[in-house]
Amino acid sequence: MNKFEALGILPNIVKAITELGFETPTPIQEQAIPVLLKEEKDLVGLAQTGTGKTAAFGLPLIQTVDFNSRNTQALILCPTRELCLQITKDLQSYTKYMPGANIVAIYGGASIVNQLRDVKRGAQIVVGTPGRMVDMINRRGVTLSTVIRVVLDEADEMLNMGFKEDLDMILSETPDQKCTWLFSATMPREVETIARKYMSDPFQITVGKRNEGNVNIEHQYYVVQSRDRYASLKRIVDFYPDIFGIVFCRTKAETQEVAEKLIRDGYNADALHGDLSQAQRDQVMKRYRSKTLQVLVATDVAARGIDVDDVTHVINYNLPDEIENYTHRSGRTARAGKTGISIVILNIREVGKIRMLEKIIGKKFTKVKVPNGSEVCEKQLFALISKIHDVEVNEAAIAQYLPQIYAQLEELSKEELIKRFVSDEFNRFLEYYKNAPDLNVENRGMERGPEVTRDRFNERGSGEPRQRVPDRDSNMTRFFINVGEMDGLDKGGLLRFICDTSNLEGSNIGRIDIKSNFSFFDAAKEVEDFLMNAFKDQTYKGRNVRIDPSNGAGAGSASSRESSFGRGKRPYGGGNSGGDTGYRKKSYGGSGNSYSDGNSTGGGYAKRSYGSDDKPADSGSYTDRKSKFGKR
Ligand code: AMP
Repeated sequence: MNKFEALGILPNIVKAITELGFETPTPIQEQAIPVLLKEEKDLVGLAQTGTGKTAAFGLPLIQTVDFNSRNTQALILCPTRELCLQITKDLQSYTKYMPGANIVAIYGGASIVNQLRDVKRGAQIVVGTPGRMVDMINRRGVTLSTVIRVVLDEADEMLNMGFKEDLDMILSETPDQKCTWLFSATMPREVETIARKYMSDPFQITVGKRNEGNVNIEHQYYVVQSRDRYASLKRIVDFYPDIFGIVFCRTKAETQEVAEKLIRDGYNADALHGDLSQAQRDQVMKRYRSKTLQVLVATDVAARGIDVDDVTHVINYNLPDEIENYTHRSGRTARAGKTGISIVILNIREVGKIRMLEKIIGKKFTKVKVPNGSEVCEKQLFALISKIHDVEVNEAAIAQYLPQIYAQLEELSKEELIKRFVSDEFNRFLEYYKNAPDLNVENRGMERGPEVTRDRFNERGSGEPRQRVPDRDSNMTRFFINVGEMDGLDKGGLLRFICDTSNLEGSNIGRIDIKSNFSFFDAAKEVEDFLMNAFKDQTYKGRNVRIDPSNGAGAGSASSRESSFGRGKRPYGGGNSGGDTGYRKKSYGGSGNSYSDGNSTGGGYAKRSYGSDDKPADSGSYTDRKSKFGKR
């Protein structure tokens, strides 16, 4: 007997999910399905995405809905449109052999008129994001009085995103006697409060330990200087030639910036964040899903609904503000029984957060060293060897050239030939990584690099050893700024404004506290003068902007230094500097630019080799990457 049938699932549903490749129920499905089918009970499920959660609630749900009726009988609420579309698609495929099923997605950023029409046709199941559901209710576009099941999916995330009032409003429209099934990856107090408020004596299931992440994920961290964060990211990506990863950033601005740098440096990357239009986001996701895109750089919110299998690495370029979100991020890898690596790039001041994370996930992190140049070269070399081993030869096309090729290479032995063919590419790796610095912080001293660090200690006359790191206060200056919420700014908006005005990297800015008509922010002490200068004569929406170091800490310490943090001045991060830029262009034939120069000068080597000249990074390299991924 089929294992899903044994749990009580009807044959027409089993037929549909068998076509999807579901043979054995996942642990959460095994626990949830029999209970949800048999009992009219509320349920709290503590589970990550990637555990088979959607089918765990989806299969019993479709089995209890009457598809001969046109009434809306089930409501599923989830935090983002991506997840909303995913759940809808999943339920549609589970109901493939259930005539009359109409499952409608209700989410922002798309025409509400079409959604009103789709619901009016008789949607038995509505899957919605809270904001758009409130709009629908206000327009009387959806009737929830006939609902018998409500699913709150990723409840913690809905609360994180500030949907509490919307949830209250929506749930007040549903009958009291309905069953509520709540799923959450983490169980902070707010979610427990919701569970208490809306549910009575819920059945509880936990997949894995409470708050524990997926056991197939290996958690690693790298400690680097803040200014080397981007160079370290590239090293890590280079060290894993077959990476299919997601890089998480803290803000939309940072996401855009990191993605742009990666693209410029020839990586097959793109950004996903809330400032993109729906069409742009769909396009990025389509490319990522089909693996024509190798590295997705995303904000937490935008990445919420991503359910792409085979993600090999999640990289935390910066940790999330809400540390619990780490579990959501890392849960993007090691889905459906696979393994994956979740990486955190930290500066030394943040190392303490690892202990917090270990408590949250109930697992240890491994400290890993940023690979050095020769380690990267070795990895790339053997990736190249297996690429050559697996390459498909187009016999028909190459046949006519072979006699001449054989004649030209006649004198070379097999060993000599191999060496030469491999060296053609390997020399580029070697050349690129020739003087690559060690990016590990213990080998580079303090946050600002050896020379500056020495200056700093000499200034203080402390003679402290280089390994001892100054605490946060001595590294950061707290600034007052006379704009705030009343000017329409939130944390992201203020960060963008500061970075745009000063031309500084977002990583130089620390905590931001928005008040009604003013705000505070922390900035690296080294950039204090730089910021003061940048904000001279600045306005925001017609208002003169003023910034002041609010605690006087660090004043004067930066005055004698020329800042090295401005864009384009950074030793590794800038597009027109040497160091760790542009290596990929050579190895993957992205834009055809020289890899020691991020500008479009069209370095001859890559042009000759790949002939992809000035195409955008994604046009030249996609086909290459696609075929590479296609083989995995
Ligand atoms: P979810 O946690 O619902 O996002 O599911 C994660 C992935 O696992 C999705 O790609 C599902 O299609 C897949 N999946 C869910 N249940 C099963 C199953 N029993 N067997 C195989 N794959 C499954």
